[in-house]
Amino acid sequence: MSKTIVCGNCHQQIKKNDDLVTSGGLLKLEPFCSKCYATKEKSFVGLFFNEQPVNSIGNIVFMVFMIGMASIAPFLDWAWGSLLFGLLALITIIERVYSYCVYERHVN
Ligand SMILES: [Zn+2]
Repeated sequence: MSKTIVCGNCHQQIKKNDDLVTSGGLLKLEPFCSKCYATKEKSFVGLFFNEQPVNSIGNIVFMVFMIGMASIAPFLDWAWGSLLFGLLALITIIERVYSYCVYERHVN
């Protein structure tokens, strides 16, 4: 089961995993080639938090950090902190799984 993944900006086919950057947040996750993403990143929109690439190491670091914060928050007598960080971690995980299922598994 294979699907052609095209860049959301230049509409060129993305064949390699190295060249695929998924970005835009859960509701508007889009694939981009690394070249277009690099250009987009420099734009004003790229400054927003949800424009970080989903399929990146930074995203995994963020996810681990959020899980860590959610785990220690109750010990800091910060009950809602646990909920907040837990929710952020969950959103990150859902985004990552969604990105994988919809785009990443179709490229090499
Ligand atoms: Zn492109």
